[in-house]
Amino acid sequence: MAVHLLADVHLTGDDDPNAERLMRYLDGPARAAEAVYVLGDLFDVWVGDDGSLPVHAGVIDRFAALARTGVPLYFMRGNRDFAVGEAFVAASHMQILDDPVVVELCGIPTLLSHGDIFCTDDTAHQAFRARYTDPRWRARMMKIPLWLRRRIARRARKRSMRGKTRKPAEIMDVNAEAVCRAMQTHDVTRLIHGHTHRPDTHHFEIAGDACERIVLPDWRPDRAQVLVADQRTLEYLDVASW
Ligand code: MN
Repeated sequence: MAVHLLADVHLTGDDDPNAERLMRYLDGPARAAEAVYVLGDLFDVWVGDDGSLPVHAGVIDRFAALARTGVPLYFMRGNRDFAVGEAFVAASHMQILDDPVVVELCGIPTLLSHGDIFCTDDTAHQAFRARYTDPRWRARMMKIPLWLRRRIARRARKRSMRGKTRKPAEIMDVNAEAVCRAMQTHDVTRLIHGHTHRPDTHHFEIAGDACERIVLPDWRPDRAQVLVADQRTLEYLDVASW
């Protein structure tokens, strides 16, 4: 049996072309998975369960259907969908994971993360991360009226788009020392994350141990992939062509 991992689908709604691909995947190949891990930014924005559940009802329903077949589903919040709450959990049948977390994937201890925790050179983003990972801050945000949360989310997206063109590219990638520190702290030689939209497998050493860092691909019109990991191999399932 293999474990499936995906991240950064950035769904805008059930009418998003990638929503259809994701639903076909959830109704199909995902049923053979030992477990499915979604490592954040599944949704391009989550303004709160009240406003976002109806927009993504179709996809969430397919996750629930998959869970009912007995496949365990895990969801880690990303910086775009940090506001998923109890109603999302109830509707999707997904279990929320801490970020980062160590799990045994087919017997291999693996550190899983959305990934922005390692982008320590982007101090502005880290300041935002400190807020959105705080449950009390999230609870305060959810008390704001929905129309205002929608406006705040729109502004944040615009700001982030402007930031992306202004910030040097290296700042938006992970910091190598932050990666090593986390892997040593959690005593793992394998890390899987998303967020950076720089899919790759990096091989390196920490204190003589061979290590790897797998960056999951973001979904685009021409690329929609799920990582399939078993005891020996890591392969990408191409959902776009499937
Ligand atoms: Mn992200």
